[in-house]
Order: sequence, then structure tokens, then C-alpha cells
Amino acid sequence: MRQDPYGRAQYGQQTQRRGGGFNLRWIILIGFALYALYYWSSNRVVDPYTGEKVLIDNSIDAEEEKAMGLQAYQEILSQEPPLPADAEISQQVRTIAQRLIEKVGVVEAQIAADHGTQPNGIWKDFDWAVNVIPSEQANAFCLPGGKMAVYTGLIPVAQNADAVAVVMGHEIAHALLRHGAQRMSQQKLSQIGQMAGAMSGMDAQQQQMMMSALGYGYLLPYAREHETQADEVGLLLAAAACFDPQEAVPLWERMGEASGGQAPPEFASTHPNPGTRIQNLSALMPKAMEYRRKFCTQAN
Ligand SMILES: [Zn+2]
Repeated sequence: MRQDPYGRAQYGQQTQRRGGGFNLRWIILIGFALYALYYWSSNRVVDPYTGEKVLIDNSIDAEEEKAMGLQAYQEILSQEPPLPADAEISQQVRTIAQRLIEKVGVVEAQIAADHGTQPNGIWKDFDWAVNVIPSEQANAFCLPGGKMAVYTGLIPVAQNADAVAVVMGHEIAHALLRHGAQRMSQQKLSQIGQMAGAMSGMDAQQQQMMMSALGYGYLLPYAREHETQADEVGLLLAAAACFDPQEAVPLWERMGEASGGQAPPEFASTHPNPGTRIQNLSALMPKAMEYRRKFCTQAN
């Protein structure tokens, strides 16, 4: 089909001639845009881990996030019963988690100092817990509030405790960076966009175009950025907890192979390009080794 670059402008003129609909649409759209701008600018906080301002709805407090995390955790565990706490694998995974958790405070303080920001210390209110869920998935998660799980399918891909620590560090970082709350705030922003589209009389196709532009242009890169940030903070955390950060590179290579192009759910779609991810991690290695020298005080 031939693309007519003036098609939209002509459509606009025709609409305008037909009556006041065109103007009203713009008034509604501008009103919503102003509201979106207001929402965006009044809900920004400095992220101590990146030094960047991020969107977190003021009405989502850490306590509420934690309660939602706990509820989700209970639902998951009731559907996917974990292994007993005294199983060997449960104990090993818990030991790894424990070592990472012990270093959260010093790592947050150091990263904040590196960026000239103040630590937010939300982890102080976390009720950490970790379970191992029998499943073929090579996956793990850490919910807001510190509830974690590792799926047994991760173990053969990780191959060693260092790589398990890299994955768990990545998951813990998502919780520390409040990525869940950021995602909810972004969803609210896109709901404002959806409402604007519907109320200004856009047809379904125009609305869909607007939402997919928003998705590709804003939400997806944002989610990828979250993955990169979680990779970085997680790697520094693992290094500080005396794990070998160098294991991160072969780990993500194996993850790529294991998923055979099909990434496991947590990493799906938001998955940074494996090459880029490995490049980023390699570039971060000197810093990770520095954290290891500085914070890994005991021989583990
Ligand atoms: Zn992630």
C-alpha cells in the first residue's frame, strides 16, 4: 500500500471543516498531556543506585509495596509448593542469599556515595525469605519486601554458587531499586494516555497505534534499562559478598543457550541483547573487582 505522508494532515483538515470536534479533541488531549506532565513531575524521586530521577508514585509507599509482594509470594508458593527448608539445595540457596543480604547495606552506601546521592535504606524494612521451587524454569525472583525464590531449573544452567549469586543479586537489585513501584507508576501514566485517547474520540486503531508507540518508545526501553541496572547492582552485590563476578559472563552465555532464543519469563522481551549485556558486564568487571577487594573481608 502506498504511504501518503500528507494523509493525516488532510484527515485533520477535513475533520476541522466538519465542526468543532477537532478543536475539542485537541483541548482534551492537551488537558490530559498537562495532567500527565503534572503527574510525572510531581512523582519523581532520586534513585540512590543510579543518581537519576525516576518516576515513583508518591502514593505507593514501601510498606504497601511490601504487602503486595507478600501477597504475591503466598499465592505463588501455594500454586508452586517449594522444597522443604532442610533440603540440601534449599540450604545452599539460603546460604547464598544470606551472604548477599549481609552486604546490601554497604553496597547501597557505596553506590550512593559513587553517585553523590543518599541511600534510601528501604531494605531495612524488608522481611527477607528465600525458597526453592522445583521447576524446569531457569529462573528466580525477588519481590518487593525481599521475598525470594529460585527455581531448580536454574541450578544446572548456573553450574556454581557464584553464578547463582549473580542471578540472585540481579533479582535482589530489582527489589532494592523499586522497579515494581516504577512499573506501576508507568502503568498509571499509560492509563492517562489511554483515557486521553478514548475521551478525545480516537478510534480503536488510532488508540492502538498511540499505545504501541508508547510501548516501543517509552515502556520497553525503560524495562530494558531496569534489566541493565539490575545486572550492575547485582554484580556489585555478588562481588561484595565474596562471589566471583567473572562468572557472570559465562552464566549469561549459558542462559542464552539454555533458552534457545526463547528467554525465560522474567527475562522475556525486556531481555537486553545478550551481546550488549555481556559487553556491559565486562566493562563493569574492574569496578566489581574493586568492590570485591573492598567488601569481601572474610575468606568464604
Ligand atoms: Zn531482571
